[in-house]
Amino acid sequence: MLKTSNKITLKSLIIGVIALAFLLSIASSILSSYQGTIKLLKEQSLETNRVYSQKLSQMVDVHLSNALKVLEYSSMEMASSMDDEETLIKEASRLQQQELTFNSVTIANEEGLILAGAPIEFGLKGKTITSEEGIKTIKNQKPTITKPYTASTGRVLITISYPIFSQEGRYEGLINGTIYLHDSNFFNMILGEHYYNDGSYVFVVDKEGRIIYHQNPERVGDVVSENEVVKRLMNGESGAQVVTNTLGTKMLAGYSSVENTHWGVVAQTPQSVALNSVEKLVLNMFLTGLPLLLVAIFFAIFAAGKIAKPLQSIANMTEESVKESEMEKLIQLNAWYYEARQIKNAMIKSFSFLHGQVNLFMDKSTIDPLTGVMNRRTLEEILQTGTEKEEELSAIMLDIDHFKSINDIYGHAVGDEVLKYFAEQMKKATREQDLCFRFGGEEFIILLPETNARDAYMIAERLRKALEKTDSPFGRPVTFSAGVASFPEMAANSTELLELADKALYEAKKAGRNRVIIFNH
Ligand code: GH3
Ligand code: MG
Ligand code: MG
Repeated sequence: MLKTSNKITLKSLIIGVIALAFLLSIASSILSSYQGTIKLLKEQSLETNRVYSQKLSQMVDVHLSNALKVLEYSSMEMASSMDDEETLIKEASRLQQQELTFNSVTIANEEGLILAGAPIEFGLKGKTITSEEGIKTIKNQKPTITKPYTASTGRVLITISYPIFSQEGRYEGLINGTIYLHDSNFFNMILGEHYYNDGSYVFVVDKEGRIIYHQNPERVGDVVSENEVVKRLMNGESGAQVVTNTLGTKMLAGYSSVENTHWGVVAQTPQSVALNSVEKLVLNMFLTGLPLLLVAIFFAIFAAGKIAKPLQSIANMTEESVKESEMEKLIQLNAWYYEARQIKNAMIKSFSFLHGQVNLFMDKSTIDPLTGVMNRRTLEEILQTGTEKEEELSAIMLDIDHFKSINDIYGHAVGDEVLKYFAEQMKKATREQDLCFRFGGEEFIILLPETNARDAYMIAERLRKALEKTDSPFGRPVTFSAGVASFPEMAANSTELLELADKALYEAKKAGRNRVIIFNH
């Protein structure tokens, strides 16, 4: 049996293929739901932030509109009291305290001189508005929300102003509510609470992309007009998208512009935070799938064993196919599915044929095809077992006389006829238990079981005499010389038996042919 060291069996192939198929399908389903979940979480987070930024921008808008309305009302009230310092101070204080929007409130005349200011302790009264934005507002004589600017006090602020006109329509001055961007202010109030611990945050930019509110006060005043989202806000757009912030972090940002001021509110969450539940989800999916995978692999091993069994047995049997005992096993083999059954049947057919051929061949090979007596191979086999039994056995070795000249004179075909004729005569002259062999060419052997040399000699003589007086195929009698030897009387084994018979034959030839001689040393 030939063994190869790396035998890839059908069973291991089936197990491998099934395990691989399962792993791939689990991997692909995990991958696809991983990607699906990522997409979903991203979309959800973007949508949440979009809606959120929209709400916040509306809140800012409402607050600012409300603040302007309040200032409008006050401006009408104060129009007739511009020279009544007490009333002005009262009104400024009331506004500053009641309207949580303002860090400070001032009422100034048309030249920018502050007539009243609150809180009192800021000491605003008596000062003159000198900042560029302030002067612009005074000149404008219109309700104004300024852009962020630095006041003479060094504060960064936004001012919401409303002009004061007398009943005659003369410009008397203005009333200002101010938001200090670096202090605690109304943005903190309405946006600051919306701060997430997970890294989400909100910021507000003005229409030039300058930060006017940020969770981190240090960022206030920074111009971030290069930020993709801020660019869109500056175009008046609202929406949501993935954006990389100044720190290089990917953010899922929702953004919305504030209607009246064209400011923009951005609400954003780090992408990594939004997606961090995905890994847990994948692990969960894998753990949920694991028992199924194990069951599948066990099933695969079982099924592979069942499927491979018939073919495996057939494969093993082919290695022993010459033995007839394997045929019985093959017939009993449980080939439970179509392909295995077909192979089994084909194998049975070819085995039967093969065995038939082998038997036929072996049959033929025991017989010499020309003369019909047994051949030399058979002689050797029989001699082997014959001498093993330790029973008496004699051998006659015969050689046709001058056979060469028969061939020479009458041709090879006639020579063959003579050989056939000789064999027939040999069989006729011998007894039933005697065995005739062609030893090669025109030499023959007769084995005589349980026969001594003397009796063998008698039989050889009988044949010699018969031939002497009978015409052979070439028209005249053929003669032979023969030597007789016996086991165990003369020879100790089968080889010696033939050697001694051959020696006696040689003696017979030497003595003039057409005679039988018993070996005698
Ligand atoms: P001797 O009396 O000394 O035995 O002489 P011989 O001529 O018989 O002996 P030799 O061994 O010289 O010749 C045997 C011849 O037998 C030679 C060979 O051509 C012939 N021979 C051997 N086998 C066959 C065969 O199958 N058919 C034929 N026709 N001739 C064969
Ligand atoms: Mg010869
Ligand atoms: Mg001869």
